[in-house]
Amino acid sequence: MEVKKIFVVGAGFMGAGIAQVGAQAGYEIYLYDIAPAAVEKGIDGIKKLLGRKVAKDKMTQGEMDTAINLIKPSTALEDAAAADLVIEAVYENADLKKDIFSKLDAICKGDCIFATNTSSIPITSLATAVKDQARFIGMHFFSPVPVMRLCEIIRAIKTSDETIAVVAEVAQKMGKTTVVAKDVPGFIVNRINSALRAEAYKCMEEGVASIEDIDKAMKMGANHPMGPFELADFVGLDVNYSVLSTLHAGYKDAKFAPNLTLEKLVTSGDLGRKTGKGWYDYTSGEKKPRTDVKF
Ligand code: NAD
Repeated sequence: MEVKKIFVVGAGFMGAGIAQVGAQAGYEIYLYDIAPAAVEKGIDGIKKLLGRKVAKDKMTQGEMDTAINLIKPSTALEDAAAADLVIEAVYENADLKKDIFSKLDAICKGDCIFATNTSSIPITSLATAVKDQARFIGMHFFSPVPVMRLCEIIRAIKTSDETIAVVAEVAQKMGKTTVVAKDVPGFIVNRINSALRAEAYKCMEEGVASIEDIDKAMKMGANHPMGPFELADFVGLDVNYSVLSTLHAGYKDAKFAPNLTLEKLVTSGDLGRKTGKGWYDYTSGEKKPRTDVKF
């Protein structure tokens, strides 16, 4: 089956990124959101990002115009009727996602493939929202989508080989390297990264080294582009907490238990860069060690 039209559900941070790389790959994209303002914001963001590429001579104005013209704004689920592939990127809420997929199942063509970009909800449980689970799959992009090179492809228990092959080709055309993972909590990247971050938190709590030195050590000694605390602040401590909780519940393995200091920071409203404070203090506009809390 050849994919030509892609219906992206959710025009937020991830959905807009997926629409952008899809259009750049030459796919006809519908960018759908329940909130018209989100669609507008998503498309404006794509125009800005592509405009910057043109300004830096990484893309021609003609290429940018072609990509932008391939993206159709949508606020009607019925626009999915002609889609070959749906990629869902709405809020991380299982009931919401299932509701959307069951509505789309009644609208879409009989051979349409349904993909979800969920980070933590079991793909096999979301697949039950559609009649033919063989055409349901996980396509886990990383943020920011236009920059990050990987797409994890997640095989739910009934996903067909053909569905995997079609989706892998689409992700590769979007410029992504693909890996196929079984439907397990955290898939590959979040599972391994969470174990690493949990270990970094333990080192901090045991007083092995300061937050700054642990980050420095992992950057200089293991060549990680960001230290585990810097990265957690970047992603958001609430997201980090919820991913660890999901892995802890899924594997029943104490190594994933969210650390108590992390829990206290989240409870107190310090969620990382987005709130100005997390493991570090960003309120001056620069990353600084926190002086208002004792870790
Ligand atoms: P976001 O909050 O930026 O965007 C979500 C969008 O969904 C919003 O625009 C919202 O209006 C829309 N939406 C809500 N209800 C809807 C509905 N009923 N119909 C249509 N649209 C609806 O969220 P995000 O960061 O883009 O995350 C989206 C998904 O991608 C989540 O499942 C998340 O777990 C996953 N994900 C996120 C990241 C990340 O780093 N942000 C990375 C990988 C995967």
